[in-house]
Amino acid sequence: MQATKSYAAQSPTTPLAPFNFERREPGPHDVQIEILYCGVCHSDIHQVRDEWGGSIYPMVPGHEIVGRITRVGDQVKKFKVGDLAGVGCFVDSCRVCDNCKAGIEQYCEDGMVGTYNGREKGTQAPTYGGYSTQIVVDEQYTLTVSDKLPLEGVAPLLCAGITTYSPLRYLNVGKGHRVGVLGLGGLGHMGVKFAAAFGAEVTMLSTSASKEADARRLGAHHFLLTKDAAAMKARENYFDFILNTVSANHDYSPYLQLLRTNGTMIVVGAPSVPSEAPAFDLIMKRRSIMGSLIGGIKETQEMLDFCADHNIVSDVEVIPIQQINEAYERVIKGDVRYRFVIDIASLKSES
Ligand code: NAP
Ligand code: ZN
Ligand code: ZN
Repeated sequence: MQATKSYAAQSPTTPLAPFNFERREPGPHDVQIEILYCGVCHSDIHQVRDEWGGSIYPMVPGHEIVGRITRVGDQVKKFKVGDLAGVGCFVDSCRVCDNCKAGIEQYCEDGMVGTYNGREKGTQAPTYGGYSTQIVVDEQYTLTVSDKLPLEGVAPLLCAGITTYSPLRYLNVGKGHRVGVLGLGGLGHMGVKFAAAFGAEVTMLSTSASKEADARRLGAHHFLLTKDAAAMKARENYFDFILNTVSANHDYSPYLQLLRTNGTMIVVGAPSVPSEAPAFDLIMKRRSIMGSLIGGIKETQEMLDFCADHNIVSDVEVIPIQQINEAYERVIKGDVRYRFVIDIASLKSES
């Protein structure tokens, strides 16, 4: 067993604080990764505060992990010591169900094993995430990371990146489509970058007028302030797709009305309270609502390679881990441009 430093929540109401625990020794198929950067996802906050229910404590959050391989098991083929590697939202799945076989392990019929707030198959030991100095993961669930891009900007691709890339690819979003991205945070800013890279006409739908210039810099062709009733009215029946990344409880109805005939709202934001979807907003224009959860390992690798080829990274604010509790408060206020990323060196140097 290997001593590992981390920051953990001990309950839904206590701030994150230093926590020492032991990682398993790498098995034959495992790699051990020295963590360099870990992104801060709004899902970390939902789970730390038990907003979705079922949280396991102590909880070491973090599922946007990049680092360097320090040890490999004797059966490992994909990696060698010194390689860069990434870990996203899950570290295992059943491997035999139809969804696992189809490469959509995030929908494993037996349930994927979350990188944190999950339980290892077999031992049922709780999983601990990336707000820590190192992690041990089966190579099949570990991603290859290019050395062409700044690593701190790559970390958020492991969740915010794949969560927005996957549904846009699934729906073949591209040239000729009008895409609205709702909510300019971690997911939203990646949604804008991908939708624009795929050739769509992109509109940022935001509650924050102060984010307009950034939205355009990120690749949005238009900006719609959702608090402006006249501007909203002018965009009724307009979009083919709306990528809904909103983390807070909200009403779908005003946004559904912006969809044209056969339009689809793609729900990726995961507020704890259910939103209403009024029948008339759907049936009058054959609109639909679909959900999407992160992405499988194969597609996550494809997304990382696409980003390396197209020079796409997340826009980040790097913080020492000691500022994590303030960072959470700022994320909740929508005051993040556009992803906090923890420099894990700050944890290693903590006495
Ligand atoms: P985030 O950085 O906090 O961004 C959320 C954005 O939503 C905010 O920046 C804000 O943008 C907008 N917003 C906040 N409150 C709002 C309100 N009351 N009404 C309308 N818009 C509001 O969060 P994130 O890390 O991108 O995560 C977003 C959500 O996706 C979270 O619920 C997270 O758990 C979920 N998630 C889902 C998956 C998945 O696989 N489906 C994966 C990762 C995360 P503006 O200032 O522009 O309005
Ligand atoms: Zn996430
Ligand atoms: Zn499975």
